[in-house]
Amino acid sequence: MIARAAKNAPPPRAPRPLRPEDVADLEIAIELNLETDGLSDVERAFLPPGESHNDGDFIAIRNALIVKWRAKPREYLSATAAADMFKNKFINLAHGVHRYLTMFGYINYGVMRTASKFEEFAEKKGTSQKMSVVVIGAGISGLAAAKHLKNLGHRVVVLESSERLGGRVDTRDDKDVKKVWADLGGSILSGSNGNPLCVVARQLGIKPHIIQPECPLYDRNGDTVDSEVDEMVEKNFNKILEDMSFFRVAMDRQIANASSLGRELEKRINVELEKLPMETRNAAKDVHNWHIANLEFANASQAKELSLMQWDQDDAYDFTGNHVVVPGGNVRFIDALSKDLRVWYRHRVTSITDAQSLGGKGVIVHCGREVDIIADCVLVTVPLGVLKRGVISFIPELPHRKLQAIENINFGVLNKVILVFEKRFWDEKCDTFGFVQSHTRDRGRYFLIYSHNKGDENVILALCAGEAAIEVESREDDEVVEDLLAHLRCAFPKADVGKPVASHVTRWGKDENTFGAYSSCSTRATGDDYEEMSEPVGNIHFSGEATTRHYPATMHGAWITGMREAGRIAMKSDITSPIDKLTDITVAINNLQGTTYKKEPAPPAPATTEPVETGGEENNAQDANKKE
Ligand SMILES: Cc1cc2nc3c(=O)[nH]c(=O)nc-3n(C[C@H](O)[C@H](O)[C@H](O)COP(=O)(O)OP(=O)(O)OC[C@H]3O[C@@H](n4cnc5c(N)ncnc54)[C@H](O)[C@@H]3O)c2cc1C
Repeated sequence: MIARAAKNAPPPRAPRPLRPEDVADLEIAIELNLETDGLSDVERAFLPPGESHNDGDFIAIRNALIVKWRAKPREYLSATAAADMFKNKFINLAHGVHRYLTMFGYINYGVMRTASKFEEFAEKKGTSQKMSVVVIGAGISGLAAAKHLKNLGHRVVVLESSERLGGRVDTRDDKDVKKVWADLGGSILSGSNGNPLCVVARQLGIKPHIIQPECPLYDRNGDTVDSEVDEMVEKNFNKILEDMSFFRVAMDRQIANASSLGRELEKRINVELEKLPMETRNAAKDVHNWHIANLEFANASQAKELSLMQWDQDDAYDFTGNHVVVPGGNVRFIDALSKDLRVWYRHRVTSITDAQSLGGKGVIVHCGREVDIIADCVLVTVPLGVLKRGVISFIPELPHRKLQAIENINFGVLNKVILVFEKRFWDEKCDTFGFVQSHTRDRGRYFLIYSHNKGDENVILALCAGEAAIEVESREDDEVVEDLLAHLRCAFPKADVGKPVASHVTRWGKDENTFGAYSSCSTRATGDDYEEMSEPVGNIHFSGEATTRHYPATMHGAWITGMREAGRIAMKSDITSPIDKLTDITVAINNLQGTTYKKEPAPPAPATTEPVETGGEENNAQDANKKE
């Protein structure tokens, strides 16, 4: 998550041998993919000046504090309490480690009962002044960063183009039908052991539902796929992937990067199918196609677009533990995070000027209105699809390598069809089931169906991946719903599959606030492109799902990058001279072409001819939902 020491930096001192009692703490560091054999550059910056400490001492204190806080994540762990855990000679080091962990959101993050206790970070007269920050986008990354920066004492406003919070976290709660919920975007928290959102769930007293692995597959005639064929294909498919992972490392790196995963996969599957007797070949082909659809779903992309070498470059960083869902939907995180934040809805940012790089001060954010918003820093959290479309102009232009990364990383589509029924006709215990299709181009159509709602919430979410995800966007809702119902009637011939009482078809590709579902490594991209996406450009910072090499395409990736940038911005506050800071968010008459501006006193919301949500403190998710 944090850059390793640069190649030409002095080698870190040999780590101190770990004491046996540190070993248990080490587990959490490994789970969170923290450095365990030396300090990152950022960590090193928090060593107390004038004292000499082993890297191992920092690491041991760091790990112990993370374990301590995670045991009671609703409580704020103060620097004094942290320092009290260690011998006197480590007091300053413990303070430094505590500061690092809190600023970068490894401890003291989320929704704590005692959030007001960030005393160590409170602005004190005569000490460092805080920053003013404009966060662009009220998705999970933007909200997490905004809340954390606010806790650390900075002045924050969130600009959101749409009329609701959450971005790609979008829980619909259809009260007209019955109180039922469905996550139209991100739904599953993967890897409960390391996932920071599972910590936030604990803070909120949420008991997540553990998803059961059983997933019966139905063919187009409604028959369940023969279990022998099912198992045989699964084994075969995994073996092919394993063989390909050896094959690609033996290839020239650049050729492997630019080769298509889908093409290689299909070639190898065809060879395997040829070996099978005719009577099982077709069934095996369909199940193989199902597995490709599953892979296309994980990458929101068509397999042919994915890089043979890079498509799974983040797999090594997957958190361990169960995959879980939050009853009531992930909006519960969004609601909790957005409390007390200033969010200005219907503010679509169209340009960002880094005034400092042009000899001025701070950043100027333009939303196509008469006034501009001015602050020390801006955090851009908009989806990669929005950056690809050039919705936001950057002045001066972003560096070439950043533009290249925006182009290289793929931003594909995944869609869901949601049906709500009066009565449940499928097995309640079954969390997932799916359909295998007999045409390759259809393989992603309803290949997986979530049934995560329990009790009297009779909801299914059918996924459309790969080509089917694109195709569904061009069809009428009624047609899609009828098609899915026909599939369900085949699979449950004895059941009364009546008309749904409510339905919804997502179109993430056409949504002007996202233009897609999530990112993946195309045949042009490598993990380095994700790294590039994370780099700040002057006072313009970037976070969000597509800015992390290790956790892309996920809600937790969005969260972690929000914390990373909150930490970077907070660090700037420590090192930037007060004279260089604006510290207040201000609005000024639009003067984009120049780099100077007239500073105005900050009103609660920018004066504009259009209706704007004001009184940000109570402008939270509940208000946003009312509008829908
Ligand atoms: C169908 C689907 C299924 C998914 N399933 C899972 C899953 O099961 N598990 C998982 O972990 N992840 C899943 N994801 C991915 C996960 O939802 C995202 O990675 C995560 O929510 C992204 O958060 P973010 O904050 O980076 O971006 P967003 O949530 O997209 O937030 C960006 C915000 O910026 C706003 N915005 C856009 N343009 C502008 C502009 N010009 N000015 C101002 N604001 C702007 C947008 O409206 C949005 O609110 C899924 C996503 C989709 C679409």
